[in-house]
Amino acid sequence: MASKKTGDYQTLPLLPLRDVVIFPGMMMPFVVGRGRSVAALERAMETGKRLFLSAQRDADVEDPDAGDVYELGTISTIVQSLKRPDGTVKVLVEGVRRASLIEVTEESEYLEVVVAPIEDADDDALASKTRQLTRLFEKYVKLSSNLPNEAVLAAVKKDHAGRLADTIAAHLPLDVPTKQEILEITDVEDRLDSLTEYLTSEMDKVKMDREIQGRVKKQMEQAQREYYLNEKIKAIQKELGRGDRESEMDALRRRIDEAGLPDEVLGKVEQELERLEAMPPMSAEATVSRSYVDWLLSVPWFKRNLENRDLAKAAQILADDHYGLDDIKERILEFLAVRQLVENPRGSILCFVGPPGTGKSSLAKSIARATEREFVRLSLGGVRDEAEIRGHRRTYIGAFPGQIMQRMKVAGVINPVFLLDEIDKMSMDFRGDPSAALMEVLDPEQNHTFTDHYLDAEYDLSKVMFICTANVLHTIPGPLQDRMEVIHLSGYTQHEKIEIARRHLLPKQIVMHGLQLGQLAIKDDAMDALIEQYTREAGVRRLERELAKVCRKGAHELVQQHSTEIAEAAAAATVRETEEAAAILSDREDADIPSDMAPPVEAATDDAPEDETIAAAEAEDETPKLPEIFVEARDPLASTLPRRSAAAEAIPDKAKVTVNVKVLEEYLGVPRYRRRGKEEKAAVGLAAGLAWTERGGEKLDIEATLMHGKGKLALTGQLGDVMQESGQAAMSYIRSRTASLGIPRDFHERVDVHVHVPEGAIPKDGPSAGITLATAMISALTGIAIRNDLAMTGEITLRGQVLPIGGLKEKILAAHRLGINTIVVPRDNEKDLRDVPDDIREKVSVHLVSTMDEVLEVALVSPLTPVPAEDILPPTATDDAMEPPLAH
Ligand code: ADP
Repeated sequence: MASKKTGDYQTLPLLPLRDVVIFPGMMMPFVVGRGRSVAALERAMETGKRLFLSAQRDADVEDPDAGDVYELGTISTIVQSLKRPDGTVKVLVEGVRRASLIEVTEESEYLEVVVAPIEDADDDALASKTRQLTRLFEKYVKLSSNLPNEAVLAAVKKDHAGRLADTIAAHLPLDVPTKQEILEITDVEDRLDSLTEYLTSEMDKVKMDREIQGRVKKQMEQAQREYYLNEKIKAIQKELGRGDRESEMDALRRRIDEAGLPDEVLGKVEQELERLEAMPPMSAEATVSRSYVDWLLSVPWFKRNLENRDLAKAAQILADDHYGLDDIKERILEFLAVRQLVENPRGSILCFVGPPGTGKSSLAKSIARATEREFVRLSLGGVRDEAEIRGHRRTYIGAFPGQIMQRMKVAGVINPVFLLDEIDKMSMDFRGDPSAALMEVLDPEQNHTFTDHYLDAEYDLSKVMFICTANVLHTIPGPLQDRMEVIHLSGYTQHEKIEIARRHLLPKQIVMHGLQLGQLAIKDDAMDALIEQYTREAGVRRLERELAKVCRKGAHELVQQHSTEIAEAAAAATVRETEEAAAILSDREDADIPSDMAPPVEAATDDAPEDETIAAAEAEDETPKLPEIFVEARDPLASTLPRRSAAAEAIPDKAKVTVNVKVLEEYLGVPRYRRRGKEEKAAVGLAAGLAWTERGGEKLDIEATLMHGKGKLALTGQLGDVMQESGQAAMSYIRSRTASLGIPRDFHERVDVHVHVPEGAIPKDGPSAGITLATAMISALTGIAIRNDLAMTGEITLRGQVLPIGGLKEKILAAHRLGINTIVVPRDNEKDLRDVPDDIREKVSVHLVSTMDEVLEVALVSPLTPVPAEDILPPTATDDAMEPPLAH
């Protein structure tokens, strides 16, 4: 609605205002001090108390001219004026109406201007807008805290729309330019609109402020509440004597900071810690929770050994630790070289297969030493449950991580050498298949995300060097075998055993028994006898045990001889140790004296004020120590060596026990095995076979004898299914070849043949005894003895062909070990002779055969000749029928 200029100009004194805008209808007190302003005021007092008030554009201008004020101002009346002693005047003015400055008429003593008053148009059409603005303003006042309520009352009483708007504008906390802008809106409707708009947006802001304030308040209340409750809990726990709780949590938190965990694990630990805090400390639940956190903190996540990549150094360590095994050491070095070039190559897991005591585990240890990695070992023998590998879920009471993670904790680094011992002895049952879990452990494609059920977090096993050992390969599941690089260790010759004993086992045992190297010696013939007559094995485990026994006895003897010196040294050591213990205890007592009883501490000399020291200590605590990633591997051999006691030093260096054959017998008792493994003399019906077992090669004696009967073949003793069948095949062969063998065609109508394999021969069944069975039976049937210095191996077909067998090297080693130097071997196995060590190869005479005839030619003491049937039959019924006819 348009306002109108009235046209009746007025000439009035001008009073420039600083920092205020006066609206019509508004009362305002202020102090006037500037010279021209005081003069203008005086002039106004003289002429009808009216003056023109207008705001200065720039409040800093000290002596403004008419040009320095806004053109639109307010004609006002002086309601009161009070001259003060300092020359200033305090006035109360009331705005009357808007006016715009037309011209300046006086500028010297005071400013005088001609102004055109502007009257607000009155329009009823604005009633609704007026009401809206009124309501809005009322709400605004209620919401905002910095407007007095009376102002509202005053404002809303205005019935005139323009006046209402002005009063509201005057009360709003606006800056001068904005107020001036509103003042300059001469159109009443525009003024209403502008204020409505302003108030609406202000209301939004106020509302938002309120909301935020409310939220902040709520949060603060919540925090205060928690603080209060926590304090209360602490107080209660203190009452109950559980004051350590806080420090336990603090300690755990410190460990978390120091552990350096992957994000996923950190999340889990923190979550668990929160739960733990909420639990009663002594509850079963808390124990479970604590041990979970403890596990997560104690398995290595980043720590690792700085590996040795110097292959020459590795080669040296392998050579130092083991005698012989040249091929194997070379293969290990090749393996290490490839691992340096390829990340997790296929078949990247070494598997040593061979009889016990051939050095499989100790080679693995050596690899750890050579590569400077930590060494851990897990025996899988008898592991039948998947959970043993992978752990139990935490829902089980008494759940634990699986063995893999338990060993990783022991290792303390993510890249140890991890020995999985006896992987062939792992069994499977209803509780799940451990080999499936193991497969995941060993699979380079999967093992970087191995999940233990208990830890329930992915663990990276890909940096681990897994090495497996097994006695046999055939019980290892095929898919597992596929992941492995198999290296066979077949056993040692007598010569090798002597060298191993001299260079490694004996020195080690001497030191283990607290002696010095020179203090015990075993003579050559005693060493020979020790190996031949007290041990019979492919490896050197028993040998090591016997050597330990010798050392034990030797040590006993030396201690007896030097008992006086030792007793003295031991007594002196005891006195020393007691004194040391006493010193430690008295130190501790000093430290334990309560502070109020302790001698005064020179607190004054302590420069740092106490709280500064505390602050410094706290500051130190705040920066968690960065975890050390690289750690040096412990030497797996070092831990096995004992420390010599003071008493041991008392035995003179020169004292010495020398073990000869006689002393050996005193120490170890009567020899367990006869020196030679062959029979005293050639016997009929007794054939020596060679078998391959988990423990290496073995001699396998097979006896055959005849009885009255009807051609039955009785097979007894240590025979598996395969040998039963071999026996039947041999019998069929014999019956089909009676003529050439010189056996009566109808022998089966009169005799039974009994074949027996004595107890303790072979634990494993395999098709390699066919020719031995046939030879024993033929010898019994023909009465021709079998050479006692010969052993044989080979399978037989019905037509008398000799089939190849496995494990030839082990068998030949076993035969040689037993002093049997003539060996019958299937011709098809000729290629395997390359594996036999040269020194053995030179000493044994190997007969390669492809038919049974060739076997008999070598094995029997005299050639086959047809013999009358009666001669081979057991005595007739008149004689003692059950007496075996042939002695051996
Ligand atoms: P396995 O694991 O094959 O049953 P071990 O590794 O336990 O056998 O070996 C038994 C003992 O024989 C260990 O003390 C080992 O150091 C020793 N040993 C085996 N072979 C050799 C060798 N070639 N040189 C030196 N010591 C050996």
